[in-house]
Amino acid sequence: MALDAPLVAVLVSAFAMTAIVGVRYLLTSGLFAWITARVRPGHYKGLDRQIRGEIAWSLASAAIYGIPSGVVAWGWREHGWTRIYTDVHDRPLWWLPVSVLVYLLLHDTWFYWTHRWMHRPRVFRIAHAVHHASRPPTAWAAMSFHPVEALTGAVVIPALVLLVPIHVGALGVVLTIMTVMGITNHMGWEMFPRALVHSPLGRWLITASHHQRHHESYRCNYGLYFRHWDHLCGTDAGLSQAFSRP
Ligand SMILES: [Zn+2]
Ligand SMILES: [Zn+2]
Repeated sequence: MALDAPLVAVLVSAFAMTAIVGVRYLLTSGLFAWITARVRPGHYKGLDRQIRGEIAWSLASAAIYGIPSGVVAWGWREHGWTRIYTDVHDRPLWWLPVSVLVYLLLHDTWFYWTHRWMHRPRVFRIAHAVHHASRPPTAWAAMSFHPVEALTGAVVIPALVLLVPIHVGALGVVLTIMTVMGITNHMGWEMFPRALVHSPLGRWLITASHHQRHHESYRCNYGLYFRHWDHLCGTDAGLSQAFSRP
């Protein structure tokens, strides 16, 4: 039986997006692993086996991320499904930076609550133990998720582009921040200057020093980009001591 043309087009789009997400992961995690080897030689010593696992889980996650985004990308091209726009003058210019912030805040909120849910003991064993099997995490752990956890992450951006208007360039900024922070928060050292991390602004932003503490202590520091949910809900345990410099 021959597949009909729209179905083939959806499958091709999903496959292409999976390949893009997978290659993006390998290149960006590879880049930060390479930088880590330069600035912190021997930092991942003895972790080869763990890293192979992180890469395998991450590539499986790439398919789970690629499928919904491929379907939505096809719907955007063929049927104008999404609220993505390409002419900056379609909306006020102030919406460009504000839309980036709105996307990050909504993603962060979704992440905080689904992440807390995944720390319930029964759910943890099924959905989230894979991510915490990285002890300590490395730059390759950015997408090291069980398929259930990957699914909770994979639906966010495809759902948001259906609902909240965003310029294609601003969406690129959101995806870049998502990719870079996902990697650097796991790479085992702090790349941001101490003056920022320990500043009043740093009290509201999540970098490696904060997420590392989550991987050390588990039941705290659940946020993704911002610390306001952790502060509001009493789950903020501060920064990892392992990163504090003399
Ligand atoms: Zn993590
Ligand atoms: Zn966790």
